[in-house]
Amino acid sequence: MAENYDLVILGGGTGGYVAAICASQAGLKTAIVESDKIGGVCLHKGCIPTKSLLKSAEIYQLTKHAEQFGVETADPTFNWSKVIARKDEVVNRLYNGVQSLMKQGKIDVYHGFGRLLGPSIFSPMAGSISVEYEDDKENDILIPKNVILATGSSANSISKIAPDGEVVITSDHLFDLDDIPQNMVIIGGGVIGIEWASLFADVGCDVTIVEASGNILPGFDLDIISFTEKRLKQRGINILKNALVEDVKKDKNSAEVHIQTNEENQVITTEKVLVAVGRKPNTFNIGLQNTEIECDDDGSIIVNEHLQTKESHIYAIGDVTGGNMLAHVAMYEARKAISHITASQSLPTESSIPSCVYSNPEIAMIGLTEQQALDQGYQVEVKKTYFPSVGKSFVNGEEDGFIKMISDQKTKDLIGIHIVGGTATELITPGSMAFYFDASPLELSEVIYPHPSMNEIYSEVALAIEGRKLHG
Ligand code: NAD
Repeated sequence: MAENYDLVILGGGTGGYVAAICASQAGLKTAIVESDKIGGVCLHKGCIPTKSLLKSAEIYQLTKHAEQFGVETADPTFNWSKVIARKDEVVNRLYNGVQSLMKQGKIDVYHGFGRLLGPSIFSPMAGSISVEYEDDKENDILIPKNVILATGSSANSISKIAPDGEVVITSDHLFDLDDIPQNMVIIGGGVIGIEWASLFADVGCDVTIVEASGNILPGFDLDIISFTEKRLKQRGINILKNALVEDVKKDKNSAEVHIQTNEENQVITTEKVLVAVGRKPNTFNIGLQNTEIECDDDGSIIVNEHLQTKESHIYAIGDVTGGNMLAHVAMYEARKAISHITASQSLPTESSIPSCVYSNPEIAMIGLTEQQALDQGYQVEVKKTYFPSVGKSFVNGEEDGFIKMISDQKTKDLIGIHIVGGTATELITPGSMAFYFDASPLELSEVIYPHPSMNEIYSEVALAIEGRKLHG
């Protein structure tokens, strides 16, 4: 079958399905080609399921320490299969929601593997799409005016440590574990490594992180990193930095991990080895060679400020373009690409993107780190305000954390906001809005925040920058 469309989107993850909804709202005849499930990594293997598990671990810890709130409980247990069942329920509810949004928007979903074709009998331009199916069903050919590539990314691997899905695993395999392992070596101390380390440590697994560079959490502010590292170590997580895994010797149920460090080499015997060393764009086999589209050295698709590839009617959004591989970036880029295709509204290139780590402690940031600001030649004003400056932190039992605000001494503009501690991932939103509205610390100090609330921390830190702090 050959079918004409205004827009065909390759990949139905967060970027792809949001683009489809926006396109359908704009009246475009739209199709998505998805080889797996609509919702992609974020919904099925990433953001949503991991946060569901992390929430269960948080509740477990809270229940264990409920007595400090005057609530007496029996010893709680962390029931992995029930935790996974709840995760499945959360995912399924959202999955059903996304599927009905596709129906409501009259978006055609092709459940097959899509590949770009070059100029052909279907169109003189590259960009028709052949949809291939696993069964013997004949290929469909889709002939769109515009294409959006939203094929996402997949876990990187290390050549000599190939994941087998049993002993050596990636984050994709973690939801299939039968139970909580007794011990785990996590290779890579980035966002994925830290979130999983935090989760497993909270539920009794003995965790070692092996990080190749001198610090965990690349891209985050050094004060936040050292605070987090200290707290993770206090919870028993072993963190090896400047460390490389030389070899993994596997048997059926465990592995010997040979690690080279600056100090002494170590061998750790473990049940699971989790490889969390970044992600790579999914461009394999999608027919890029049939087009003029260009890729960077890391395999990411090169786009201009409107998210157009070298073929101006073919756009690319989200993880497949590299850079900030975050679901909220993909969603923003989806809206931006559609607004360009429909010439309806010009959205600016995203400048300030919040980043969150849903570990214990939570971390969130927006803008530059102190080091980045210094490297860019700013004369910085830096203030840190600890959570006990606001009464709500005591009410919540979450006094362990701080906010760090960085501003420009010359212009008094905001440069960066960094938060670590309970609810940091929610607390960053006023910061995002401040960046969007170009608010200064002075303006943030003038906002009336409800009392008692953790948001008062913004008032405290902004007043500190102004030299007029009230508490703390
Ligand atoms: P990452 O790039 O954040 O971190 C990978 C880490 O692995 C780095 O610290 C790197 O130095 C280390 N590393 C690389 N090779 C190594 C080796 N051979 N041995 C030891 N260490 C090694 O990657 P990630 O944590 O895998 O996350 C991938 C992407 O997914 C990121 O872009 C991240 O932002 C995104 N993500 C975001 C969230 C969130 O926003 N909460 C959650 C999960 C993933």
